[in-house]
Amino acid sequence: MPIYEYRCSECGFQKEFLQKHNDAKLTTCPDCGKESFSKMLTAAGFQLKGSGWYASDFKGCPAKPEAKAEPAPAQGCNGCACAGNS
Ligand SMILES: [Zn+2]
Repeated sequence: MPIYEYRCSECGFQKEFLQKHNDAKLTTCPDCGKESFSKMLTAAGFQLKGSGWYASDFKGCPAKPEAKAEPAPAQGCNGCACAGNS
């Protein structure tokens, strides 16, 4: 089921809803009750950008163990040829 993000233009209330394709759109803000609740566009391109950066960052470093991936890529690659490059 897709997740839709809704936002109220009156009070700024924001919430994600799981909705089926044929579910009615929500228009009433659950916070302030006004008819200003509307669906937001999701940031679908975000993850694509992220993976592109990830791939180029680790190019030439095949020894990086996937299971022990560090949250901060700049600190990775210890002991392989690309260590100290950045
Ligand atoms: Zn509202």
